[in-house]
Amino acid sequence: MDTHPKASHFINGHYVEDTNGTPIPVIYPATGAQIATVHAATPQIIEQAITAARAAQVEWAAMTGTERGRILRRAADIMRSRNHELSVLETYDTGKPLQETLVADATSGADALEYFGGLAATLTGEHIPLGEDWVYTVREPLGVCVGIGAWNYPTQIACWKGAPALACGNAMIFKPSETTPLCALKVAEILHEAGLPAGLYNVVQGMGEVGSALVSDPRVDKVSLTGSVTTGKKVYTAAAAGMKHVTMELGGKSPLVIFDDADLDNAVSGAINGNFYSTGQVCSNGTRVFVQKGIKEAFLARLAERVQGAILGDPLDEATNFGPMVSERQMEIVKSYIARGTAEGARLVCGGGQLDKDGFWLEPTVFADVTDNMTIAREEIFGPVMAVLDFDDEAEVIARANDTEFGLSAGVFTRDISRAHRVIGKLRAGSCFINSYNDAPVEAPFGGVKASGVGRENSKEAIQHYSQVKSVYVRMGDVEAAF
Ligand code: NAD
Repeated sequence: MDTHPKASHFINGHYVEDTNGTPIPVIYPATGAQIATVHAATPQIIEQAITAARAAQVEWAAMTGTERGRILRRAADIMRSRNHELSVLETYDTGKPLQETLVADATSGADALEYFGGLAATLTGEHIPLGEDWVYTVREPLGVCVGIGAWNYPTQIACWKGAPALACGNAMIFKPSETTPLCALKVAEILHEAGLPAGLYNVVQGMGEVGSALVSDPRVDKVSLTGSVTTGKKVYTAAAAGMKHVTMELGGKSPLVIFDDADLDNAVSGAINGNFYSTGQVCSNGTRVFVQKGIKEAFLARLAERVQGAILGDPLDEATNFGPMVSERQMEIVKSYIARGTAEGARLVCGGGQLDKDGFWLEPTVFADVTDNMTIAREEIFGPVMAVLDFDDEAEVIARANDTEFGLSAGVFTRDISRAHRVIGKLRAGSCFINSYNDAPVEAPFGGVKASGVGRENSKEAIQHYSQVKSVYVRMGDVEAAF
């Protein structure tokens, strides 16, 4: 596959280049080979994108929701018809195995385009009777939205932000992560092929400073970030200075609680899905696996057996089910956490090593006997490192699970249906699971509490974050006044 994009940016319906921008090498994580170069947006490129978005948004908002939705649904169909090609590109961009990208990336993006395309025509206000007077409300777009992406799901993030923004009548300027700049350009191409008017979905490349320039521009009305808590605090602060709307999809250190009565293999599957999918580079991962003491050794033994099923091979071979880390930098971060885990006294059950080959390959790693104060139990690692902690009873595990600054996700495995709902009810997290882990259907709200973020993506909830309500008081009689 030719992985070189036609140009670095996509603005006003066209690919645009400005080689004065800092070159950003695109590296295939499986080999370390450079597969493309893009250039960071210069101030001229940023200006072009904002001007184009503002100019296009007014007419787009004036179209009917049915018309807007039809374009999004057409884009969903095109995306599905090109799933294989888009999945291969996603694999080059991220290193994630094709086995995953074929079912979790462009397909999830297409779901978002289809879902919000369907909702577009249903966005209405309400009528509020007040005797003979009344109020009516109008659901209006925000204007120009900026989306800033992380590197783990480049196609999905570009669609999860773009689809609701466009459905509500906004324009979008999307800045992908500098680590994975390729896939969002394809999203822009497909939207335009589906009939999206020029200027409504623009992609600009760059590092943090390009994101920062977009966030602080007074012509931008909303910012949606997917990234780390550290970046989230900076972006939220910058957005607050301009009183802009925000959605913050940030990091996590989520608890996965496994009770003695859980189905052992299902619980192990949940822990694998919650720690090793996308080589552990998933924000909602259940990286603190609390296992009740009665089942602990059986759980660890079965887990160690099942981890042998990880196939670390060519990500483009569909038999491979475990890929490399996205970058050398991320691999080094994860290695340093593995070293901390050992140094602080956790028991290494399996993995822990780097593969002796090109690219950024780490083994799936499990630590047991992890205690609450260890670094690997407190900080987000964002790699394939599972920390198994043990517990005695329900009240204890709820308190310990909640003892974190994060609140993105939480999961419970038990056969006791009352306990499942009781425990989930007490866990402070936005996206929760009972006898499952890491499902993210577009129909369900997704997002965190506490430091893990504000706002929700997907579902009808996302509409609240890409639109606002105007209320209009209508008086039928005369107006009384004091004088
Ligand atoms: P990151 O915070 O380093 O970068 C995220 C994005 O923000 C990048 O595009 C980056 O260029 C941009 N950025 C950096 N500084 C900026 C600034 N000052 N102003 C504007 N933009 C700026 O995150 P990452 O390393 O790309 O991704 C990993 C993190 O993302 C993890 O913490 C993970 O949990 C989180 N994440 C969250 C979700 C979610 O939905 N909650 C999903 C995926 C990843």
